[in-house]
Amino acid sequence: MPSLPASGPVAAAGGSEHPGSGSLAASALRLWPLLRPHRRRLLAGCGCVLVVVACWPLLALLAGRLIPAIGAGDLKASLRTILLALLVFLVQKAAQFGQDSLLADPALHLGQDLRRQLFARLQRLAFGSLDRLSAGDLTYRLTEDADRVGEVIYKTLHDTLPSVLQLLAVLGTMLWLDWPLALATLLLAPLVALLVAAFGARVMTAAERSQRQVSELAGLLAEAIAGLPLVRAYAAEAWLQRRFDREVDQHRRARARTLRLLALQHPVVGFLEALGILTVLLLGAWRIQSGQLSGQGLSSFVAALLMLIDPIAHLTTNFNDLQQGQASLERLLAIELEPTERPDAAGALPLGPVRGALQLEGVEFSYTPDQPVLQALDLQVEPGQVVALVGPSGAGKSTLFSLLLRFNSPQRGRLLLDGQDLAELRAGDLRRAIALVPQQSAVFAGTVAEAIRFGRAADPASLREAARLANADGFIEALPAGYDGRIEERGRNFSGGQLQRLAIARAVLGNPALLLLDEATSALDAEAEEAVQRGLEQAMAGRTVLVIAHRLATVQRADRIVVLERGRIVEQGSHNQLMASGGRYRDLCRRQFIDLNPTL
Ligand code: ADP
Repeated sequence: MPSLPASGPVAAAGGSEHPGSGSLAASALRLWPLLRPHRRRLLAGCGCVLVVVACWPLLALLAGRLIPAIGAGDLKASLRTILLALLVFLVQKAAQFGQDSLLADPALHLGQDLRRQLFARLQRLAFGSLDRLSAGDLTYRLTEDADRVGEVIYKTLHDTLPSVLQLLAVLGTMLWLDWPLALATLLLAPLVALLVAAFGARVMTAAERSQRQVSELAGLLAEAIAGLPLVRAYAAEAWLQRRFDREVDQHRRARARTLRLLALQHPVVGFLEALGILTVLLLGAWRIQSGQLSGQGLSSFVAALLMLIDPIAHLTTNFNDLQQGQASLERLLAIELEPTERPDAAGALPLGPVRGALQLEGVEFSYTPDQPVLQALDLQVEPGQVVALVGPSGAGKSTLFSLLLRFNSPQRGRLLLDGQDLAELRAGDLRRAIALVPQQSAVFAGTVAEAIRFGRAADPASLREAARLANADGFIEALPAGYDGRIEERGRNFSGGQLQRLAIARAVLGNPALLLLDEATSALDAEAEEAVQRGLEQAMAGRTVLVIAHRLATVQRADRIVVLERGRIVEQGSHNQLMASGGRYRDLCRRQFIDLNPTL
């Protein structure tokens, strides 16, 4: 797919952008790469547009002939002119069909390509940007905004462009028929144009506000749906309803303002048109009286004048659509300005077979300057070792995982896998060698096999083996459809323990040398817990494992326990050693694991 060039002066996303800041021409330029592949159709469509437009002056001239002929009761001349007009109409309507059908396709593609391209971008966004942008807002941009841009492009191609050309052709005809009268007519045009522009700007601001409101509504809705159980648990429905009602109300008000402006716009522009036509008729009568224009000439002139009304009306409404579409486009292109993940360095090294030796040398990292999250971290993990990371919440355990997966890069120090600096490796290779089992896996609707494969190729035997290691084979094979059993949205037809075991199966499928495990904190019932535990143990065998431990059983079984506090390693050793030394770990154990094991 062709890519969009770097976009222009759009402020970063996050609610503060001014979508109307780029010019229409700049927006069109940005979209050209997406339209380019369709240029043949576009050209053919534009050819049809020209035919449609060229028919208008012809029809104006024929009208000029027809009206006096009818007035004079000359049936023969009337019939001849009517037949000619019929022919012109036929050609015009055929060309219009060509125009509409040829131009629809590129516009449709454009909306979809834009959406696809931005989704690809979304997948590569840096985690900082993803954290900042709300899911509801992004969803709105990639659905509603992308649709609107497609629609506006279609409208521009099959309606605005012909209208502009029709306006030019008809004006040209009027100048040719009687230029002083045409110039007088043209004096009225700027008045209309000024009013249209003034209204356009207001409608644009109102439309922007209303779009932002929808975005906010979508954000709140996404939050509300995710947080519904919590809201119920706190009996906070009335509070949430009030917040929602307030958002809905604000949106209604913003929308009402747009509609009010639109309602006012049509009558005002319509009245000006009527005033213009009546003035021209008066001037025409004077031109005939002074012998400078024939009756036939005035008939053609008035016919041409009437042909101006349609394109002007189209242009006024389309102008608003265009502005709204531009706001949508700016909101979409703002995603293009969000920083993406750092790409692999030139000459990034491929990763050969991995033994799984990990080394951290003086690693320092912070999300925001002057707020260190990891400090002077040194750590050595031998292949096949299981290291439990413990420490209070906020100590930096998950951050360490994010550095290992290269979601973030350390500001100082190095992380090495089998002696190779992670920064020098290809990110894809690195991530294939490491498997992450998060506390709660994201669930995509699909089949069980798809959930385990997660986009990778795997034969049925390796799929079964991964499920067996994760202790998930039993329940999968008990499903009526086995590995083809469907997982519904958010995995609601599976238990928490089953989903965790599927996540473990997904992790071991690629036979990773390194396993990063973030133990679930939410308690499962004893039976499910045991099943997950067995899966984990089988999955861990023969791999280097870093586990953020929340269970006593896990730390007791680890080869080494590393205690992190405020981004520093404060203690390490085995469970028994650390308990005996009576330091931070012992405190932590008492506080953190005591509920899980009353014998401590
Ligand atoms: P743990 O996993 O030990 O609970 P984290 O690694 O999640 O700790 O967090 C360590 C510190 O980094 C915390 O102070 C947290 O607020 C901060 N932090 C975590 N993620 C981000 C982020 N994406 N942006 C900014 N600060 C973050």
